[in-house]
Amino acid sequence: MTPVAAHRTYTLLGPDGRLCRSGTPGTLGGHRRGRLYGRLDCPSALRAIARGHYTEHRVFFADEATAIAAGYRPCAVCLPDEYARWKTTRESSSASS
Ligand SMILES: [Zn+2]
Repeated sequence: MTPVAAHRTYTLLGPDGRLCRSGTPGTLGGHRRGRLYGRLDCPSALRAIARGHYTEHRVFFADEATAIAAGYRPCAVCLPDEYARWKTTRESSSASS
C-alpha cells in the first residue's frame, strides 16, 4: 500500500489578494488576469485550460466570500445567479458615484 500524502498543501488566494497556503483544496477556481472566479468544473475555464493559456493565471479560493473580498467577480457561465447578483450590485453602486 502506498501511503497517501495526508498533509499536502494547496496554494490559495486570500481575501487580501495574496497567495497563502492551505491544508484544504479550494472550492472555487479563478483567473488572475480576468479577475474572475467560478466552479472548478466550469466549462468556460476548462475550454481555456485546454487551449493552454489559462493555467499560468489560474488561482484558487477557499470559498466565495474570499473570492469576492479579493476583488474577483463571478463567472457568467458557471455561476449565472451570482453573476446576476454581482451585476446588480455593481450597477447600483456605480450609479451613486
Ligand atoms: Zn465559469
